[in-house]
Amino acid sequence: MSGRPTYDPLFLFIGGAWIAAEGRAASPVVDPATGETIGAVPLAGPDDLDRALEAAWKGFAAWRAVPAFERGKLLRRAAELIRARAEASAVQLTLEEGKLLAEARQEVAAAADIFDWFAEEGRRAYGRVIPARAEASRFTVQREPVGPMAAFTPWNFPATGPARKIAASLAAGCSCIIKPAEETPATALAIARALDEAGLPKGVLNVVFGDPAAVSAHLIASPVIRKISFTGSTRVGRLLGALAADGVKRTTLELGGHAPVIVFEDADLDRAVSLALAAKFRNAGQVCTSPTRFYLHETLHDRFVEAFAAGAQAMTVGDGLAAESRMGPLANPRRLSAMEALVDDALRTGASLAAGGRRVGDQGFFWRPTVLADTPASARIMNEEPFGPIIVTQAFDDLDAVVAEANRLPFGLAAYAFTRSLSTATAISERLESGMVGLNTFTITVPETPFGGVKQSGHGREGGLEGLDAYLVAKLVSQM
Ligand code: NAD
Repeated sequence: MSGRPTYDPLFLFIGGAWIAAEGRAASPVVDPATGETIGAVPLAGPDDLDRALEAAWKGFAAWRAVPAFERGKLLRRAAELIRARAEASAVQLTLEEGKLLAEARQEVAAAADIFDWFAEEGRRAYGRVIPARAEASRFTVQREPVGPMAAFTPWNFPATGPARKIAASLAAGCSCIIKPAEETPATALAIARALDEAGLPKGVLNVVFGDPAAVSAHLIASPVIRKISFTGSTRVGRLLGALAADGVKRTTLELGGHAPVIVFEDADLDRAVSLALAAKFRNAGQVCTSPTRFYLHETLHDRFVEAFAAGAQAMTVGDGLAAESRMGPLANPRRLSAMEALVDDALRTGASLAAGGRRVGDQGFFWRPTVLADTPASARIMNEEPFGPIIVTQAFDDLDAVVAEANRLPFGLAAYAFTRSLSTATAISERLESGMVGLNTFTITVPETPFGGVKQSGHGREGGLEGLDAYLVAKLVSQM
């Protein structure tokens, strides 16, 4: 496609230096709307990683000595720089990831909000005094930064993914080496640029790209690294958790989900449909909290499917930079193949196709918003996270049965329910095995609330008070 904005040059950021490829291997960055290569991200070798580790070690010593109040001021300055450049960053984000420009703008704004939240929260790393057992003695609990941390973020949220890990760790006084996804590097680098220009001391933040398995194995094995934070699939989370366990290192793992949505007989159907359309097709469904398994009361199942399918069919799928688009492309060709395989399997298993189910055109990675009604529990898509713009539905008539079905999978990240009954809302929020529950809403992610899962969706929380805890250790001082 001609006339597209240009994509920013890409670097490694190690010890305060911006390092271009300079003879290193590089990995192509592809625009999902065109399928064309728009850039090449330099890949760090073992020497680069060792330099990043040394920088993070020295950076930690310097940064932990900076008062939390001053750290907060610097993080707020970075937030302001992110906001000042939001429009340019949002365009870069859409070019590399594909999502609608309107969504990219919201995401960059949210990244700045995350820095503001942690800028404040870092000042509240309170300890406590415990009543002593003997006269003239005291017990105090101090909270200290855990140390240099290694972060790994995926391609679906190139701004807020890195922002959560960088802002929280830096606010706590840790240093950070982050490996954002090689597929979406420019947005993370724009955040690093804002922190650099806000005056972050050298080595406190280092950004590397590379072969994911080699980089994670190298960093996690280093005695410098004290904490690992990963967002991505359960498969990779399990691998990184095992590497971390070898060094008995703390982990925060934000892994896959497969969110159920239970719509009860007394729900406001029109509202549930319109909120579900907006939530499901955000970022073309490539969201770990995306609503996917729709359990619809038998009295409204068919009406819900009909209204939702009509909304899905009416959506304009197109280039994220085009004003008329309502859903952008999938982020990479792996997702297209995954959609094809899951839909074929569901139709073979007995689901009925109420909307979509196919690719759009042969340029870029576009897929029609898809509705698979009456999908049997044995279909792969009822068990594997689709991570794309597809919903599956089943009718239910009994609370216990629908709770069992919603909780059947090993995932437990997000779950949603729609009802006008206070007692049903209370019962369902207690019984769903999930880190986050939305009642009559899909809004569950803001910087001031804890985000994370249970079961194989991972452990640890990002955001909220809990988001800072992830980077603090408690030290008891007993004094006579
Ligand atoms: P993937 O599982 O190979 O990769 C997921 C992410 O992990 C990528 O960013 C990748 O660079 C990184 N990664 C892979 N191997 C790694 C390793 N050994 N060490 C460190 N990082 C590693 O697959 P994918 O095709 O990118 O995505 C497939 C699935 O991953 C999706 O279907 C979805 O279930 C899940 N996913 C989840 C999230 C999330 O927000 N929780 C984000 C992206 C992908």
